[in-house]
Amino acid sequence: MNFRIGYGYDVHALADGLRLVLGGVEIEHSKGCVAHSDGDVAIHAICDALLGAAALGDIGLHFPDTSDDFAGIDSRILLRRTAALLAERGYRVGNIDCTIAMQRPKLRPHIDAMRTALAADMNIAVDCVSVKATTTERLGFEGREEGVSASAAALIYRTDSEAQSATAPARQRQQ
Ligand code: MG
Repeated sequence: MNFRIGYGYDVHALADGLRLVLGGVEIEHSKGCVAHSDGDVAIHAICDALLGAAALGDIGLHFPDTSDDFAGIDSRILLRRTAALLAERGYRVGNIDCTIAMQRPKLRPHIDAMRTALAADMNIAVDCVSVKATTTERLGFEGREEGVSASAAALIYRTDSEAQSATAPARQRQQ
């Protein structure tokens, strides 16, 4: 069995009157993330952790924020596409651990909904997805409510035979 880990980190600025979407869940708040997409900083960190684990670059490489294709896009679509990229290479997602740093609002009431959404998008069990929330004790940009950050760790794996078929020529794989 071939195990690999990855790490992701993302930051978005907060501005008044925008939608706040975190971990695939829309949260009622006076501020939301400034972004080319829906600004789901948690999903962006998770995508980068998954891509990092597979050494497939980063989210900006696969889904460039200069492309109109991704303007305002639901980040859950990006997570599903990232999971598909890994699956094409024979990888399965073992587990995810994500931490969101934000001063307000309290995220705890939304954590289970986030875990459910994220697990569905990666096609894994809910107990393989951890989402944690922390304040930064009013320190830094998160504490001043100027922005929100998220970090994520991912473990992915594939069997040796899956690794071989993923690297074999496409014609052989279809047989
Ligand atoms: Mg981002």
